Parts: sequence; C-alpha cells; structure tokens
Amino acid sequence: LSEKLQNVFKQLRSKGSLTEADVRAALKEVKMALLEADVNFKVVRQFTKTVQEKAIGQDVMNGLNPGQMVIKIVHDELVSLMGNDKAELPLKPGNEITVYMMIGLQGAGKTTTAAKLAGKLKAKGRKPLLAACDVYRPAAVKQLEVNGAKVGVDVFSMGDRKNPVDIAKAAVEHAKASGYNVVLLDTAGRLQIDEQMMDELVAIRQAVTVDASVLVVDAMTGQEAVHVAQTFQEKVGIDGVILTKLDGDTRGGAALSIKAICGKPIFYVGMGEKLEDLEQFYPDRMANRILGMGDVLSLIEKAQANIDEEKARDLEKRVRKAQFTFDDYLDSMEQMRKMGGIGSILSMMPGMTGGKAQELESMVDEKDLARKEAIVHSMTKAERANPDLLNLSRKQRIAKGAGVNIAEVNRFVKQFDQTRKMMKQMPGMMKGRGKRRGGF
Ligand code: GDP
Ligand code: MG
Repeated sequence: LSEKLQNVFKQLRSKGSLTEADVRAALKEVKMALLEADVNFKVVRQFTKTVQEKAIGQDVMNGLNPGQMVIKIVHDELVSLMGNDKAELPLKPGNEITVYMMIGLQGAGKTTTAAKLAGKLKAKGRKPLLAACDVYRPAAVKQLEVNGAKVGVDVFSMGDRKNPVDIAKAAVEHAKASGYNVVLLDTAGRLQIDEQMMDELVAIRQAVTVDASVLVVDAMTGQEAVHVAQTFQEKVGIDGVILTKLDGDTRGGAALSIKAICGKPIFYVGMGEKLEDLEQFYPDRMANRILGMGDVLSLIEKAQANIDEEKARDLEKRVRKAQFTFDDYLDSMEQMRKMGGIGSILSMMPGMTGGKAQELESMVDEKDLARKEAIVHSMTKAERANPDLLNLSRKQRIAKGAGVNIAEVNRFVKQFDQTRKMMKQMPGMMKGRGKRRGGF
C-alpha cells in the first residue's frame, strides 16, 4: 500500500499544481491501495468519493504543497470515518451492576479479551466477575478460569451441563449477592454465523440486562469482518467492537470498514496474546497504520522540504553567523506543528506500533515545549531578534508574562545559548535540512 501511495504522491508533487484530473487519477490509485489493505469495497468507494470532493473544493490546486495537502485530506478523512474521538464502554456508577456480553465467531478472541477487559476494570478499582457461558467448546470453561486467575478476577461457572441463558442469569444474581459490579459474559462462537448461535445470544439479552453487547472481531479477517459485524448487529444488536490480533501484520482495513458500515465505535484493540495486551483504540493511529506509517512521515517531510527550503537556506546563513534568534526558534516550532506535532510524528515512524509511540511521546514533554514558546512570546520584538539583550529585569518581566518562574526562563535562555554556540561550531549542519529525517 505505502509504496503505491508514495508513487501517487510523487506524481502529484512533480506536477506542481493539482488539477481535478490529477486528483481523480491519484484517487484511483488510492482506491486500489485501500482494497489491498483489505478495506471493504463499498467503504473504499465512498471514501474516495468524499476525498475527491474535499480535495477539489479546497485550495489544493493553488497550494504551494499539493502532495502534503492530499495526504492530509486522505488522513483526516480516514480519522473522521473511524470516529474522531476515542469511545468508552458504558459503566454504571457505584455498585450498580454493569453487564457486558462478549460475542463473535469462534477464535476471534472473546475469552481472551473478556479476561483482558476484566483485568483492566479491576485495575480501575471495579469488582468484575467473569461468567463462563460457552458450554460448547471443549475446555472453554477451564480456559476462562485460567485466564481469570491470571488477572486475579473471579470466574462464575456451572460447568458445561447448564444452558448459557441460565448461567448468565445465575451469574448476575451471584454478582448482586456477592458485591461484584461488572459482569462479563463470555459466550460461545461458531466457525460460521449460524441461527442457533444468534438465537442463544438473543435469549441471553432477553434474560439479563446487557449494558453493552461487545462484538469481538479478528482484524485479520479483513473484508469478512464487515459481514460478521453486520450480521451480529442485525440479529443480536451490538454496541461496539473490540478488534483483536492487531499485533499481526494486518494493515487494519477491518477497523475502517466496520466503523463505516455499522457506525459502531471500536472500544479497544487486542495487541497480543498476553492479558495486558489490550489498548484503547485511537482513530488517528489507525489511520497512520492504514496509510503505512513511516512512509507517510517521509512524504510529509519531503513535501515540507519544498516550501521550507528557502527558509532553511536563510536560516543556515544566520546560523553560520550565530544569528539564530528566538524568532527562528518559534519558526522551527511552527514547522514541527505543521507536521502534526511530536505525537503524530512519532506514531508515523516505522516500528512505532502498539504503545511505543505513546511511550516515547510521554518522554518528550509537549507541555514543556508550550511553556518555552510562552516564554518566547513574552519577549519584545527586539529581544527576540537579539538574545544578547536579555538581562535580569527583562527576564523577570518575561517570566511574569509567561506565567513561569525566573529559574525556568534562565534555564531556557541558557539552553538556547548553548544551542546557538553549538550551531556556530557546526556550520554545515543545516544543509540537508528538510530532506533529512529529524531535520526539524
Ligand atoms: P474465542 O473463541 O473467541 O473465545 O477466542 P479465544 O479467546 O480463545 O482466542 C483464540 C486465540 O486467539 C487464542 O490463541 C488467543 O491467544 C488468540 N488471541 C486473542 N486475542 C489476541 C490478540 O490480540 N493478539 C494475538 N496475537 N492473539 C490473540
Ligand atoms: Mg472462547
């Protein structure tokens, strides 16, 4: 996918300005690429149509940077299709009992995910209870008991002699009597959708109050995921989805399709077999993944290089003379923001799957950067252009203006001075600016 997209955008860029025909031709390729990522064909069609309308409607054609603009539109549209914000499972307050019913095909990951979710709820201070309602699969009860024990959550079971509806009812009763406040029903799945399975799930829903019917879908099933989601929604009703096995090499086309076709949110994604491998679903990260992470970054960077080359050349001259000013600092921060900020840049790097980007992001303190910018904004024009002007009283005024203490201003100015000196010692370092990764 990513290679294809890269070629498309290369073509767009080399043309300089974007015509309607260009957009159409490019989206034809995007269409193919999305299909390759296993996005449902109906979704692909709707998606490319929307993007085409938006791209042509905007100033893309007059833009300095058409390639970057198209990437942004494609990316934003993917995000909005998958729901802009993260979705939360409903949870009743206090000791009122919340019931989740895990449903899906056999092998999708219901049992594993039920245990993962129970572990998360327990960590949040809830009192979850897992209920073994799969009486068909050999050793299903045992599997839930083993997983429950691993996360330290109790499992309610009645063996495999009872029917699932009675087990569900008894589990909720038991929860009420014993002070549990969340019940997770682990139900049975079949290799294929069948009527009896659906009827049984409907019967459970009628027997107990289910607060969320959670469809567990294997992300590797690709296009089929849409069919599965649609059928479960029609027959049983679903409130949202957990997409498992995203630790595999799938591009995650299923996420896009399910959201687009069913309109139901994706609550979590399964990122491995271990019971801690359940993560919040972030539409933004999924969009990056579908587009092919690292490649998107390098594309945006290359696109960026075109408009910023002149600025960079000028900057280099100034740096050579050690004239790097606070204005230049603001400029470079602005350029970074244009690329979506540190968080989104990190999440686009290759290999930044799972929580790695998040982890790194927390190490690079964006709040700290915001404070530094506030400091610069509190300087007068003259001070920004000539860092040597800063004396104690000026620094005191700046600290007040930025709402930080003077020590922080001192630290920042000192850091800035060091950077300036360092730059003076390495006159060639800005040459490849914009072309090289990490040039900001
Ligand atoms: P169920 O039939 O729907 O209850 O599915 P299970 O919970 O028994 O899971 C089927 C298989 O998928 C098991 O081997 C799980 O370890 C595995 N599995 C579940 N979730 C994930 C996941 O997020 N990533 C990976 N790699 N494997 C998973
Ligand atoms: Mg199971």
